Amino acid sequence: MSVLNKKIINKFEQVSGLEVKTAISLKKYTTFKVGGPADLFVVPHHRAALQEALAAVKDHPSPLPHLILGRGSNIIFSDKGFRGLIIHTGQLDHYQVRGQTITAGAGISLSRLADIAAENNLGGLEFASGIPGSLGGAVYMNAGAYGREIKDVLIRASIMNSSGEMKKYSSQELAFSYRHSLLQEKNIMLIEAEFCLESRPASAVKSRMKKINRQRKKKQPLEYPSAGSIFKRPENDYAGRLIEEAGLKGTRIGGAEVAVKHAGFIINRGGATAADIKKLVHIVQQEVYEKSGIKLETEPEFVGDFG
Ligand SMILES: Cc1cc2nc3c(=O)[nH]c(=O)nc-3n(C[C@H](O)[C@H](O)[C@H](O)COP(=O)(O)OP(=O)(O)OC[C@H]3O[C@@H](n4cnc5c(N)ncnc54)[C@H](O)[C@@H]3O)c2cc1C
Repeated sequence: MSVLNKKIINKFEQVSGLEVKTAISLKKYTTFKVGGPADLFVVPHHRAALQEALAAVKDHPSPLPHLILGRGSNIIFSDKGFRGLIIHTGQLDHYQVRGQTITAGAGISLSRLADIAAENNLGGLEFASGIPGSLGGAVYMNAGAYGREIKDVLIRASIMNSSGEMKKYSSQELAFSYRHSLLQEKNIMLIEAEFCLESRPASAVKSRMKKINRQRKKKQPLEYPSAGSIFKRPENDYAGRLIEEAGLKGTRIGGAEVAVKHAGFIINRGGATAADIKKLVHIVQQEVYEKSGIKLETEPEFVGDFG
């Protein structure tokens, strides 16, 4: 049941520059195409609208669960959905190029950001071109591929806390490590990030991006909805290799399947539920542990009630 009443919804509706939707299915906002409804879903068109939305959250008579959502490519919402407020960053997608520096908003897609860099004869973000997330989600988990990570190019970030206050953080202060950043430890949001890139001809940058994306298409089951690699890379090994060795390729629960093309992916073969995915993850973790003694840790976050 929704935690919101009409009076509370009105408060959000009065914020200028804030799109407000209720009982919206989260399926279409995640790349796995699963998940139930969110009670309230807001899309701020600028920073001030986000600050006012956070003020409304604070004013709520009881604690109001809220979550910032980028492109939903590293999150799996439960089939029961999200009892609270989702703040979608899709419209915070501004950018500015100055010399070798690009500053961009949290909602910009990584592929767009990589294209902008290429068009401006700047290299360093080629690795990000095939990652289907937003900049905010990428900084949150220090996204990486092909030997590079967000932390290698980010120099500064503008962060907002839950009271709407802004602060600049250096790359060092963001405490990046493998698929980790300070954003996972504190209740703070990325609003904008600044990158220092290298001068490189657009043709060379674009050709590197094409090569990377060809490799992705060849190796990854991109024809099916998923959240990419379902497990983090264990130390000195690969989740895909361990899963394949455990004989789990093609294992299915409902519409969820351990991809035959790449065992490190669980895919939605059609009609999968979040519960199917969670069950399959559990089976894979158990079997791999029994066979190798290695505990696989999920990379995407499972959010909501899976009980
Ligand atoms: C086909 C496929 C391939 C992929 N390949 C890769 C890959 O090569 N490398 C890789 O690292 N990842 C990969 N991913 C995973 C995913 O794309 C990345 O993790 C991406 O960075 C997530 O961004 P998002 O906007 O989708 O985040 P979301 O899924 O929307 O959110 C993930 C988490 O980030 C938080 N978050 C989002 N925005 C903000 C913000 N502005 N401030 C604070 N927190 C925020 C959310 O609250 C949530 O906790 C892949 C996914 C898919 C589907």
